[in-house]
Amino acid sequence: MSDYRKLVIEEGLNETYKCVHCGFCLPTCPTYRATWDEADSPRGRIYLVKALLTGRVKPTESLLEHLDRCVICRRCETACPSGVVYSKIIEAAYAYLGDELTKYGYPWYVRIGFKLLENPIVIKLALSASSSLPGIPEHMRGFARSRDKERLDDVLGRVFKPQPNRPTRGRVILFVTNSCVAWQSHTHLVYATIRVLTWNGFEVIVPREFRCCGAPYMHMGRFNEAIELARHNIDVINMYMNRYGDIDYIVIPDSGGCQAQWLEYEKLLNTKVGFKQKVVNTLQLLDKVGLFGDLGPVKMRVSIQHSCHLMNVAKAHDAVIRVISKIPGLEIRGLETADICCGAGMMYPDRHPDLADKIIRPKIEELRKLRSDALILESVTCKAHWTNIVRNYGLDNLRLIYPTELLDLSYLNGDNPGYANYI
Ligand code: SF4
Ligand code: SF4
Repeated sequence: MSDYRKLVIEEGLNETYKCVHCGFCLPTCPTYRATWDEADSPRGRIYLVKALLTGRVKPTESLLEHLDRCVICRRCETACPSGVVYSKIIEAAYAYLGDELTKYGYPWYVRIGFKLLENPIVIKLALSASSSLPGIPEHMRGFARSRDKERLDDVLGRVFKPQPNRPTRGRVILFVTNSCVAWQSHTHLVYATIRVLTWNGFEVIVPREFRCCGAPYMHMGRFNEAIELARHNIDVINMYMNRYGDIDYIVIPDSGGCQAQWLEYEKLLNTKVGFKQKVVNTLQLLDKVGLFGDLGPVKMRVSIQHSCHLMNVAKAHDAVIRVISKIPGLEIRGLETADICCGAGMMYPDRHPDLADKIIRPKIEELRKLRSDALILESVTCKAHWTNIVRNYGLDNLRLIYPTELLDLSYLNGDNPGYANYI
């Protein structure tokens, strides 16, 4: 067992002792709200992991099932008065069980397919074929169905200067990669991000060399691969810093999962590389520095479903709301369950279809009552998931949109000469 695994197990076990069994976290847990089963709650899972790590129970099928049903949204962490970091506990279970939990939760073709799906050409082929071929996981179909027409290849490897006549505010690196299905499909978001950042005075570097952030591997307990990817992506940052000078921010366009993973890099590499505070979401950055330009009206009634990792780990959702609230004409209709996970992550609806259905139903009912024109989603995985949801639950008229796309739309509708033609 590697030193990293040993450390994760030790830290996770220590964390279990912080839980005082108060149950404050239970109402925040999407799986507990769906099953009302203690073993599907954070408190129940903490109990199970503690028993497992101390050798009091064996990894039975039932135990693996309850652990695997966790969507790893980390909402429970935000409700805990004792400050229990639940993610450390579930990661310890992965570390202790090795491949056992992954084998239980994921079919073989998914475990092998992950590596294949890092190849840009394979991704292109998969996206083209996924909407028609039988037997393709719904998760993949969601990305294929929500695929935008812009080409990621056309912006990779380029440096975008601040738009003409804009004051210069700094230099950022954009994390996108053609070795991930999310970024190859949701390219309109990437183009919108470049437009709003350059309009707001930032030079935007878009490296071609980034690879997957490592989040899928982390969530499967494949720590070695996650560490290798973290190291690679940090090397890319260093390479560009050597070439262009200091980088003010590493911007992750509306992907809470990727952002949360980048925030783990220092821990994963057991080093202080000193950039954690530089990792930001696009609107989080613009909230911090202030918006330039004329915000045009966007007449739309919108609801919002928060990205769990943007909210619970990066804690950037308030900043995102503050920025979009400035857009004239936008009517925001709250979704009561906006802060509860929608069950999008890690092919959850493919692996646990019945539970995924129970998790999503209350949101569907709410959306039907709210009659919004659009649903704002803060993460690429959520968008792929919701592309399937609106289709499967008869919400075809509900537009799905990222916060950055909304801001882009507002600039397009405002008096901002040259904005539309920049890219
Ligand atoms: S991470 Fe999410 S699904 Fe897992 S126990 Fe916590 S609240 Fe429940
Ligand atoms: S809120 Fe915290 S201390 Fe209370 S049961 Fe949940 S994890 Fe344990």
